[in-house]
Amino acid sequence: MKRAFGFIARVLGFEKLSKYESDYLHDANIRSCSYMSFIVVLIELWMLIRQTQTKIIPKYQAGEPLFDLLVRYTSKYWLFMLIGTGLMMFCLFYKRGRRLSKRQFIALVAIGSACMLYTAVLGLETFTATSEAITPVMAGIMNVMLVSVYVFLFVIGAAIVMYALFDRLKNKKIVLLEHVAIIAFTLVCLAFGIFVSYSDFWGGKEIICFLTMVLYVGCLLIYRPYVTILILGLSFLGFHRVLLTYQGGLSFQQQEVVISGVTRHFISGDSVNYVTFFISLTTICFAMYHGRLNEARNSKALEKSAKEDPLTGLYNYGYFSELAEESIRHFAGDIQQNVFLFFDVHNFKAFNDQRGFEAGDKFLIAIAKYISEVFSDSLCGRQADDHFVVLTRKEGLEQKLDKLNELVHGYDDEILLGINCGAYHLNSSDEDPRISIDRARYAAQLIKNRFQTIYSEYDKTMSEAYHKRLYIINNIDNAVKNGWIVPFYQPVVWSETEELCGCEALARWMDPVYGQLYPNEFIPVLEEYRLIHKLDSCIYESAFRDIRQALDAGRPVVPVSLNFSRLDFELMDAVAVLDNLAAKYNISKDLVHVEVTESALMDNYTKLDEALDRIKALGYSLWLDDFGSGYSSLNVLKDYQFDVVKIDMRFLSNLENSEKSRTLIDCIVQMANRINMSTLTEGVETRAHADFLRQIGCDRLQGYLFSRPLSKEAFYERIDKGELIVSDKRH
Ligand code: C2E
Ligand code: CA
Ligand code: CA
Repeated sequence: MKRAFGFIARVLGFEKLSKYESDYLHDANIRSCSYMSFIVVLIELWMLIRQTQTKIIPKYQAGEPLFDLLVRYTSKYWLFMLIGTGLMMFCLFYKRGRRLSKRQFIALVAIGSACMLYTAVLGLETFTATSEAITPVMAGIMNVMLVSVYVFLFVIGAAIVMYALFDRLKNKKIVLLEHVAIIAFTLVCLAFGIFVSYSDFWGGKEIICFLTMVLYVGCLLIYRPYVTILILGLSFLGFHRVLLTYQGGLSFQQQEVVISGVTRHFISGDSVNYVTFFISLTTICFAMYHGRLNEARNSKALEKSAKEDPLTGLYNYGYFSELAEESIRHFAGDIQQNVFLFFDVHNFKAFNDQRGFEAGDKFLIAIAKYISEVFSDSLCGRQADDHFVVLTRKEGLEQKLDKLNELVHGYDDEILLGINCGAYHLNSSDEDPRISIDRARYAAQLIKNRFQTIYSEYDKTMSEAYHKRLYIINNIDNAVKNGWIVPFYQPVVWSETEELCGCEALARWMDPVYGQLYPNEFIPVLEEYRLIHKLDSCIYESAFRDIRQALDAGRPVVPVSLNFSRLDFELMDAVAVLDNLAAKYNISKDLVHVEVTESALMDNYTKLDEALDRIKALGYSLWLDDFGSGYSSLNVLKDYQFDVVKIDMRFLSNLENSEKSRTLIDCIVQMANRINMSTLTEGVETRAHADFLRQIGCDRLQGYLFSRPLSKEAFYERIDKGELIVSDKRH
């Protein structure tokens, strides 16, 4: 029962609409109003001309006073025309949302009033000045022309004034005015239809005007169905009634009226036509209302997804930037009081790792809530991951940041949480918000992992480093295309013989502006901006090409280790890229090693697991890079099957003086051997390191003791000179 009522209420349009939906319907009505008002203005113009020709001119020439004639025969058309013009102007400017300055407003009103005044006073005089000597036809033509000019000027004047007024009022958000305008227009249209048809009916003509007008109102202006029923019902019923004679009680009978000798009946067939027309029109209106409502809902859903971050409900980055750009442009003189903030959550990754993804999401939602509470009067958005952006004012910033930090800090008892905030102060209103946000982000980046410092401001001293970063992001495509990115090869040797058993490809960026750039300058930036796959696929291709050339030239070759970033597996099908290159250059799979860092494997990331399985299944050797640098190293060993474990170079840093370090490395090597993994130690810088590692049975060594990373040419040269002896055997 309740459901049935709910259904009927919905069909009749009694449901509560959201602001978006009613605005959408309102917008649609305004659009319809603009078509309708245009037609009405044309009709009224035509009517004015017709009245002038058929009534005013003959009667004026017959000696009746002009002013009386004008009032009698044109005033109602003027009224309709004014309303139509006003509504048309209003509709046309409705969406523009700009505001006239005071001076423009006064100027427009003055110009408009002058036009109207001119036509009201001078226009009349010109008309009366028509000479009686001119033939009636000539006079008629001239007068029609004069009336047209008169009408034109008057309408233009009225329109200008109306536009100015509406523009002023609309910007004060007087929505009521719009509703009043539409409703007034509806009533005027209906009144016009009824009035004209009623008189025509008795004159023996059609009732088309009434039907046309209700059709207008019904189809163009869509109200809620119950309002439509009310408007159309009353109009039809009222009009139908006047055509009948009231007989007392509820009964009516058709009238018989004789006008100018013609007898008219309202025949019963017309009654049926009326009802049919009414029902069809009402049904169409219902259908249109529900159609538009559906459109509104779809468009809302679409718009929402285009503007909102689905997880936190804050604005997404794109929309935030758009809004920021708009508000910056509209800030008055005190632009310097505004600041962009970029938030990064301290230890978010640790939180995610320990508490799981779901808890991580909840945490992000909470942070979004904190931010929008603390910065309730500012523009807030989420950039990505645990990165949030805010455009706010300087006053009270410090207290707000402390408050926010406190809230985030208090979220978990065990994990040390907090915020890093980078800030960029605006200088002028034409700054690109994306660049400003990026600078704030850069400032935040500099205090990452420094728990005590929560605030960092972008200033001039940062700008050089910042520009280098920006340069890298903007030029990665160029660099790839122009061959600025090249692999250097660092030899890897057998610990027993110190003969060459492989090499690692390490990226170098040979830049025409900055000279040689090292990975620590570009790898983190490219990872941060999710561009690392561009560099990596370029390095892989170069490495494969180099091997192919060496093979073709009959040189001895060694396997090359390629570094895979965790993001490579997200941003491209890294396995396919690798395998296709191997096929393209016809390189045997045992000449390629895939290095994945331990930290890449920390997250529960199934896509990566699958990729690693595929790599193994395809027959490539899988190496674990930087073993021991993270905090769940042993888990990684347990969960994945690596061929080689690369022991992180920090274990060697204090080897000579630390018994503990020596024992640790020894144990790692033994453990790896027990689970059938081979070992390599990186960062071997001294003879003592190498001797120790050989004694404990570490299989391979890599480090400055043997060689720094070398250009391809230098690498070959050392092989050619016999300084590096290629060998595929351990002993
Ligand atoms: P990694 O993979 O751990 O590479 C070893 C790094 O240690 C290299 O630095 C190498 O030059 C350096 N190294 C080698 N022997 C010694 C030594 O005896 N002592 C010291 N102190 N350092 C030594 P590099 O070339 O600057 O690369 C740094 C990191 O950048 C690499 O660490 C790797 O994570 C990343 N990387 C380099 N090239 C690529 C690449 O093509 N793609 C990706 N995704 N990452 C790369
Ligand atoms: Ca590596
Ligand atoms: Ca490494």
